[in-house]
Amino acid sequence: MHGNNPVSALKPKHYKSGIKPVWCPGCGDFSVLSAVTKALAYLALPRQNVAMISGIGCSSRLPAYTAVYGFHGVHGRALAVASGLKAARPDLTVLVAGGDGDGFSIGGNHFIHACRRNMDMTYIVMDNEVYGMTKGQASPTTAPDWAESKLTPHGPGVPSFNPTSIALASGATFIARGFTGDPNGLTKLLVEAIQHPGFAFIQALSPCPTYRPEHKQWKKEVRGFEEGATSDPGVAAQRLQADDGMTTGLFYRAEIPVWQPENSVSCQTSELEQTFRV
Ligand code: SF4
Repeated sequence: MHGNNPVSALKPKHYKSGIKPVWCPGCGDFSVLSAVTKALAYLALPRQNVAMISGIGCSSRLPAYTAVYGFHGVHGRALAVASGLKAARPDLTVLVAGGDGDGFSIGGNHFIHACRRNMDMTYIVMDNEVYGMTKGQASPTTAPDWAESKLTPHGPGVPSFNPTSIALASGATFIARGFTGDPNGLTKLLVEAIQHPGFAFIQALSPCPTYRPEHKQWKKEVRGFEEGATSDPGVAAQRLQADDGMTTGLFYRAEIPVWQPENSVSCQTSELEQTFRV
Protein backbone atom coordinates (compact mmCIF):
# COMPACT_ATOMS: atom_id res chain seq x y z
CA MET A 1 0.00 0.00 0.00
CA HIS A 2 1.58 3.29 -1.05
CA GLY A 3 0.21 6.84 -0.71
CA ASN A 4 -3.34 7.84 -1.51
CA ASN A 5 -5.74 6.24 -3.89
CA PRO A 6 -5.05 8.09 -7.17
CA VAL A 7 -8.76 8.28 -8.12
CA SER A 8 -9.70 10.10 -4.92
CA ALA A 9 -9.54 13.84 -4.58
CA LEU A 10 -9.75 13.45 -0.83
CA LYS A 11 -6.48 13.56 1.06
CA PRO A 12 -5.93 12.54 4.69
CA LYS A 13 -6.23 16.18 5.78
CA HIS A 14 -9.79 16.26 4.42
CA TYR A 15 -10.80 13.66 6.99
CA LYS A 16 -9.56 15.83 9.87
CA SER A 17 -12.02 18.19 11.55
CA GLY A 18 -9.63 21.03 12.22
CA ILE A 19 -10.17 20.78 15.99
CA LYS A 20 -6.79 20.68 17.70
CA PRO A 21 -6.33 17.49 19.73
CA VAL A 22 -5.83 18.03 23.47
CA TRP A 23 -3.74 14.88 23.87
CA CYS A 24 -0.42 15.24 25.74
CA PRO A 25 2.70 15.70 23.61
CA GLY A 26 3.97 12.32 22.47
CA CYS A 27 0.67 10.50 23.05
CA GLY A 28 0.31 7.52 20.72
CA ASP A 29 -3.25 8.53 19.89
CA PHE A 30 -1.95 11.18 17.45
CA SER A 31 -0.56 8.39 15.32
CA VAL A 32 -3.90 6.54 15.33
CA LEU A 33 -5.70 9.69 14.17
CA SER A 34 -3.19 10.02 11.36
CA ALA A 35 -3.51 6.33 10.40
CA VAL A 36 -7.32 6.54 10.36
CA THR A 37 -7.35 9.56 8.06
CA LYS A 38 -4.75 8.00 5.78
CA ALA A 39 -6.72 4.75 5.57
CA LEU A 40 -9.97 6.58 4.76
CA ALA A 41 -8.21 8.62 2.07
CA TYR A 42 -6.59 5.53 0.61
CA LEU A 43 -9.96 3.81 0.39
CA ALA A 44 -11.51 7.02 -1.00
CA LEU A 45 -14.49 6.68 1.28
CA PRO A 46 -16.98 9.56 1.03
CA ARG A 47 -16.99 11.30 4.40
CA GLN A 48 -20.78 11.19 4.65
CA ASN A 49 -20.66 7.38 4.41
CA VAL A 50 -18.38 6.92 7.42
CA ALA A 51 -19.25 7.03 11.12
CA MET A 52 -16.76 7.02 13.98
CA ILE A 53 -18.15 5.93 17.34
CA SER A 54 -16.37 6.06 20.70
CA GLY A 55 -16.88 5.71 24.43
CA ILE A 56 -15.04 7.72 27.10
CA GLY A 57 -11.35 8.29 27.65
CA CYS A 58 -8.42 10.06 26.03
CA SER A 59 -8.57 7.91 22.90
CA SER A 60 -12.35 8.25 22.68
CA ARG A 61 -11.87 11.89 21.71
CA LEU A 62 -10.99 10.65 18.23
CA PRO A 63 -14.40 11.30 16.58
CA ALA A 64 -14.13 15.01 17.39
CA TYR A 65 -10.91 15.22 15.41
CA THR A 66 -12.27 13.58 12.27
CA ALA A 67 -14.52 15.06 9.59
CA VAL A 68 -16.81 12.05 9.33
CA TYR A 69 -20.01 11.47 11.27
CA GLY A 70 -19.19 10.89 14.92
CA PHE A 71 -20.73 9.94 18.21
CA HIS A 72 -18.90 10.31 21.52
CA GLY A 73 -20.87 7.95 23.70
CA VAL A 74 -20.78 6.91 27.33
CA HIS A 75 -18.17 4.79 29.03
CA GLY A 76 -17.79 1.29 27.59
CA ARG A 77 -20.84 1.53 25.32
CA ALA A 78 -19.24 2.42 22.00
CA LEU A 79 -19.79 -1.03 20.51
CA ALA A 80 -23.43 -1.07 21.60
CA VAL A 81 -24.03 2.26 19.87
CA ALA A 82 -22.08 1.15 16.80
CA SER A 83 -24.05 -2.11 16.56
CA GLY A 84 -27.33 -0.21 16.67
CA LEU A 85 -26.11 2.19 14.02
CA LYS A 86 -24.91 -0.62 11.75
CA ALA A 87 -28.23 -2.45 12.16
CA ALA A 88 -30.14 0.65 11.09
CA ARG A 89 -27.66 1.86 8.45
CA PRO A 90 -25.83 -1.12 6.94
CA ASP A 91 -24.61 1.13 4.13
CA LEU A 92 -22.30 3.06 6.48
CA THR A 93 -18.65 2.22 7.12
CA VAL A 94 -18.61 2.04 10.91
CA LEU A 95 -15.38 2.59 12.85
CA VAL A 96 -15.24 2.28 16.62
CA ALA A 97 -12.42 3.74 18.71
CA GLY A 98 -11.54 3.58 22.37
CA GLY A 99 -9.04 2.59 25.00
CA ASP A 100 -8.23 -0.47 27.06
CA GLY A 101 -10.18 0.68 30.13
CA ASP A 102 -13.23 1.69 28.15
CA GLY A 103 -13.18 -1.34 25.88
CA PHE A 104 -12.04 -4.21 28.08
CA SER A 105 -13.33 -3.25 31.53
CA ILE A 106 -16.48 -1.15 31.42
CA GLY A 107 -17.20 -2.33 27.87
CA GLY A 108 -15.81 -5.86 28.23
CA ASN A 109 -19.17 -7.51 27.88
CA HIS A 110 -19.96 -5.55 24.73
CA PHE A 111 -16.56 -6.48 23.33
CA ILE A 112 -17.24 -10.21 23.69
CA HIS A 113 -20.68 -10.02 22.12
CA ALA A 114 -19.62 -7.70 19.30
CA CYS A 115 -16.96 -10.28 18.36
CA ARG A 116 -19.56 -13.04 18.51
CA ARG A 117 -22.12 -11.10 16.49
CA ASN A 118 -19.68 -10.44 13.62
CA MET A 119 -21.31 -7.30 12.31
CA ASP A 120 -19.31 -5.54 9.63
CA MET A 121 -17.34 -2.89 11.53
CA THR A 122 -13.78 -2.05 12.63
CA TYR A 123 -12.86 -1.68 16.28
CA ILE A 124 -9.52 -0.08 17.11
CA VAL A 125 -8.44 -0.04 20.73
CA MET A 126 -5.60 2.27 21.71
CA ASP A 127 -4.03 0.16 24.42
CA ASN A 128 -1.70 2.00 26.82
CA GLU A 129 -2.24 -0.28 29.81
CA VAL A 130 -3.58 2.56 31.94
CA TYR A 131 -6.58 4.83 32.51
CA GLY A 132 -5.12 8.11 31.22
CA MET A 133 -8.05 10.50 31.45
CA THR A 134 -8.75 9.68 35.09
CA LYS A 135 -5.11 10.09 36.09
CA GLY A 136 -3.34 6.80 35.82
CA GLN A 137 -5.13 3.88 37.43
CA ALA A 138 -4.41 0.29 36.45
CA SER A 139 -6.55 -0.97 33.55
CA PRO A 140 -7.41 -4.54 32.50
CA THR A 141 -4.23 -4.80 30.41
CA THR A 142 -1.90 -3.47 33.14
CA ALA A 143 0.74 -5.97 34.26
CA PRO A 144 0.08 -7.45 37.73
CA ASP A 145 3.25 -5.93 39.21
CA TRP A 146 2.84 -2.33 37.96
CA ALA A 147 2.94 -0.42 41.25
CA GLU A 148 2.90 3.24 40.16
CA SER A 149 -0.74 3.98 40.92
CA LYS A 150 -1.71 5.05 44.43
CA LEU A 151 -4.82 2.92 44.06
CA THR A 152 -2.74 -0.23 43.52
CA PRO A 153 0.51 0.50 45.39
CA HIS A 154 1.57 -3.15 45.20
CA GLY A 155 0.33 -3.60 41.61
CA PRO A 156 -3.07 -4.89 40.49
CA GLY A 157 -1.90 -8.39 41.39
CA VAL A 158 -4.06 -10.16 38.81
CA PRO A 159 -3.07 -11.41 35.37
CA SER A 160 -3.69 -8.92 32.60
CA PHE A 161 -6.47 -9.29 30.06
CA ASN A 162 -5.38 -10.77 26.73
CA PRO A 163 -7.48 -8.88 24.14
CA THR A 164 -6.46 -10.81 21.04
CA SER A 165 -7.08 -14.22 22.60
CA ILE A 166 -10.43 -13.07 23.99
CA ALA A 167 -11.38 -11.71 20.57
CA LEU A 168 -10.53 -15.05 18.96
CA ALA A 169 -12.42 -17.07 21.56
CA SER A 170 -15.41 -14.75 21.19
CA GLY A 171 -15.64 -15.09 17.40
CA ALA A 172 -13.95 -12.03 15.88
CA THR A 173 -13.02 -12.74 12.26
CA PHE A 174 -10.10 -10.31 11.87
CA ILE A 175 -7.58 -9.95 14.69
CA ALA A 176 -4.48 -7.76 14.47
CA ARG A 177 -2.06 -5.77 16.58
CA GLY A 178 -0.38 -2.54 15.50
CA PHE A 179 2.01 -0.06 17.08
CA THR A 180 1.66 3.70 16.93
CA GLY A 181 5.42 3.97 16.43
CA ASP A 182 4.86 2.24 13.08
CA PRO A 183 2.23 4.50 11.47
CA ASN A 184 2.54 2.91 8.02
CA GLY A 185 1.98 -0.57 9.42
CA LEU A 186 -1.00 0.67 11.41
CA THR A 187 -2.50 2.35 8.34
CA LYS A 188 -2.13 -0.87 6.34
CA LEU A 189 -3.87 -2.85 9.06
CA LEU A 190 -6.70 -0.31 9.16
CA VAL A 191 -7.19 -0.48 5.40
CA GLU A 192 -7.40 -4.27 5.57
CA ALA A 193 -9.69 -4.14 8.60
CA ILE A 194 -12.12 -1.74 6.94
CA GLN A 195 -12.16 -3.90 3.80
CA HIS A 196 -12.74 -7.06 5.82
CA PRO A 197 -16.37 -8.23 5.78
CA GLY A 198 -17.10 -8.80 9.47
CA PHE A 199 -15.97 -7.69 12.90
CA ALA A 200 -12.35 -6.53 12.65
CA PHE A 201 -10.40 -5.93 15.84
CA ILE A 202 -7.10 -4.04 16.02
CA GLN A 203 -5.20 -3.68 19.29
CA ALA A 204 -3.01 -0.62 18.76
CA LEU A 205 -0.15 -0.38 21.24
CA SER A 206 -0.37 3.35 21.95
CA PRO A 207 2.08 4.72 24.54
CA CYS A 208 0.93 7.08 27.28
CA PRO A 209 4.08 9.11 28.05
CA THR A 210 2.33 10.90 30.93
CA TYR A 211 1.41 7.92 33.11
CA ARG A 212 3.51 5.15 31.56
CA PRO A 213 6.80 6.81 30.53
CA GLU A 214 8.43 3.39 30.48
CA HIS A 215 6.50 2.72 27.27
CA LYS A 216 9.39 4.34 25.44
CA GLN A 217 10.83 0.84 25.54
CA TRP A 218 8.07 -0.45 23.30
CA LYS A 219 9.93 0.86 20.27
CA LYS A 220 12.68 -1.66 21.02
CA GLU A 221 10.36 -4.48 22.00
CA VAL A 222 7.82 -4.62 19.16
CA ARG A 223 8.51 -6.92 16.27
CA GLY A 224 6.65 -7.81 13.10
CA PHE A 225 4.73 -11.02 12.69
CA GLU A 226 6.51 -13.09 10.04
CA GLU A 227 4.18 -16.03 9.55
CA GLY A 228 1.17 -14.30 7.97
CA ALA A 229 -2.46 -14.53 8.98
CA THR A 230 -4.10 -17.89 9.46
CA SER A 231 -7.76 -18.76 9.06
CA ASP A 232 -7.40 -21.71 11.44
CA PRO A 233 -8.62 -20.69 14.91
CA GLY A 234 -6.60 -23.49 16.56
CA VAL A 235 -3.35 -22.28 15.02
CA ALA A 236 -4.23 -18.68 15.86
CA ALA A 237 -5.02 -19.61 19.48
CA GLN A 238 -1.64 -21.30 19.90
CA ARG A 239 0.21 -18.33 18.42
CA LEU A 240 -1.67 -15.76 20.47
CA GLN A 241 -1.25 -17.66 23.71
CA ALA A 242 2.47 -18.07 23.12
CA ASP A 243 2.96 -14.41 22.20
CA ASP A 244 4.26 -11.84 24.71
CA GLY A 245 1.95 -9.13 23.42
CA MET A 246 4.64 -7.27 21.49
CA THR A 247 4.24 -8.93 18.09
CA THR A 248 2.49 -6.77 15.52
CA GLY A 249 0.65 -7.77 12.35
CA LEU A 250 -2.46 -9.59 11.22
CA PHE A 251 -2.82 -12.86 13.15
CA TYR A 252 -6.18 -14.22 12.10
CA ARG A 253 -8.63 -13.66 9.30
CA ALA A 254 -11.65 -15.80 8.53
CA GLU A 255 -14.67 -15.26 6.37
CA ILE A 256 -17.92 -16.35 7.93
CA PRO A 257 -21.36 -14.85 7.32
CA VAL A 258 -21.71 -11.33 8.60
CA TRP A 259 -24.64 -10.79 10.91
CA GLN A 260 -26.99 -8.08 9.78
CA PRO A 261 -30.67 -7.85 10.76
CA GLU A 262 -32.72 -8.58 7.64
CA ASN A 263 -35.41 -6.06 8.26
CA SER A 264 -33.86 -2.88 9.49
CA VAL A 265 -36.62 -0.75 10.94
CA SER A 266 -36.45 2.95 10.45
CA CYS A 267 -38.72 5.40 12.16
CA GLN A 268 -38.78 9.00 13.24
CA THR A 269 -37.85 9.96 16.79
CA SER A 270 -41.30 11.59 17.07
CA GLU A 271 -42.84 8.12 16.53
CA LEU A 272 -40.59 6.67 19.23
CA GLU A 273 -41.60 9.43 21.62
CA GLN A 274 -45.24 8.58 20.94
CA THR A 275 -44.65 4.87 21.58
CA PHE A 276 -42.89 5.39 24.91
CA ARG A 277 -45.03 8.27 26.20
CA VAL A 278 -46.27 7.66 29.77
FE1 SF4 B 1 -2.36 10.30 25.91
FE2 SF4 B 1 -1.79 9.48 28.38
FE3 SF4 B 1 -2.03 12.09 27.88
FE4 SF4 B 1 -4.19 10.53 27.83
S1 SF4 B 1 -2.91 10.98 29.62
S2 SF4 B 1 -3.65 12.10 26.32
S3 SF4 B 1 -3.35 8.61 26.98
S4 SF4 B 1 -0.46 10.70 27.03
